[in-house]
Amino acid sequence: MIETPQLRPELLNKYNLNGPRYTSYPTALEFHNRFDQEDFKLAIQDSTNKQLSLYVHVPFCHSMCYYCGCNKIVTRQKNKADRYLDYLEQEIVNRAPLFTHHKVIQLHLGGGTPSFLSAGQFTRLMGILRQHFQFQTQVEMSIEIDPREIELNLLDHLKNLGFNRLSFGLQDTNLIVQEAINRVQDTEFVQALLTRARELNYDSINLDLIYGLPHQTSARFQQTLEKVMLLNPDRISLFSYAHLPTRFAAQRKIRDEWLPSGDEKLSLMLDAMAHFTANGYVAIGMDHFAKPDDELALAQKQQILHRNFQGYTTKGECDLLGLGVSSISSIGKAYAQNTKKLKDYYQAIEDKGQAVEKGVSLSQDDIIRGAVIKALMCNFMLDKDAISKQFSINFDHYFKAELIKLNTFLTDGLITITPKSIMVLAEGRLLIRSIAMAFDAYLNAATTQAFSKVI
Ligand code: SF4
Repeated sequence: MIETPQLRPELLNKYNLNGPRYTSYPTALEFHNRFDQEDFKLAIQDSTNKQLSLYVHVPFCHSMCYYCGCNKIVTRQKNKADRYLDYLEQEIVNRAPLFTHHKVIQLHLGGGTPSFLSAGQFTRLMGILRQHFQFQTQVEMSIEIDPREIELNLLDHLKNLGFNRLSFGLQDTNLIVQEAINRVQDTEFVQALLTRARELNYDSINLDLIYGLPHQTSARFQQTLEKVMLLNPDRISLFSYAHLPTRFAAQRKIRDEWLPSGDEKLSLMLDAMAHFTANGYVAIGMDHFAKPDDELALAQKQQILHRNFQGYTTKGECDLLGLGVSSISSIGKAYAQNTKKLKDYYQAIEDKGQAVEKGVSLSQDDIIRGAVIKALMCNFMLDKDAISKQFSINFDHYFKAELIKLNTFLTDGLITITPKSIMVLAEGRLLIRSIAMAFDAYLNAATTQAFSKVI
């Protein structure tokens, strides 16, 4: 089990800067609109992958959570999803012929709120996907669920459609916190959902939590943590609330003085980490926890964990096709993103049958740095020899400047560097984003401001 780290206050002040979460390298900030459909096709042709992961973005939500920084549309009109599915169908019909040599091994529905869809709309969506793509017999099918607006029996319907993994947004169980974020939900109903999911033999249940929310105190969050343990999920995602009110208008409803201070926020995170590890969960990467027999925990142990736009995954060696407004694809040596506004998405599908707005084709340097950053973010360890061999470089020579940048972390006892490896120590794991930033060739003072604080 990974030891629960502490962080010296002076290091929190020194390294808790703004930085990417590295769900991709280069980050989405480097995507540009010179990347087009021809580049997208070229990436598919050049890709050696034969396995495909599908991501479908459902942008609608029933109401606005004030902390949210996602791309979503708040509406009560269910029929908006019918129109959306009409356009999604056209996109799928046009995209699928490019992937006839791929087999789908993974599907994830994210949002927004995928559970905004009705049972009939889910049936329709799955029918379209299965008609146009080749699904392998065993497919990992996961969906994010908002526990506020669904009926218990939706879980039965999703299971019948082939879904086997559920992720519920819990965030915090305290009513004062819930009211401040405009997300009041009943923990007893969440319990009922998890009970039903277990009766239906879902393979894995994840709960999302957020620390750093308004009015969250140590005592209140402790109660949330205890309730989470009673709910007994297979996985827990523990996200940091990034307060960026100048970027996200809804966050202006959250007053600065309601938020925990930097030190208090760090304590909330450390308390949660200690609580989960004391209860038998293994820390995965920087913000996930899983039971020791969960495949993420096993993959981390074998150092084969991957990271993509949905976070940590065991299925990194496949192409990822994003479908729907704002979705991101990772195909071979390229990233591509669909247009972010729904109106523009509809127009693009009508005009061109697809909605890629921007992207980036990776240079060899991007690929090497991406592999280094991924190893650090996933495994907290970098085998320099393996990178040298894989990319025919001399690691120490290639990353001479970056190794100098790492000296500060070395001096502060956050990492060790040997001729063969870089190891991130327990305290350094909390600052893994800052450490990975040393290998990012694109960062500068202006771009880092676009990212949230690393803790
Ligand atoms: S947190 Fe989820 S449910 Fe809430 S507004 Fe954002 S996307 Fe919608």
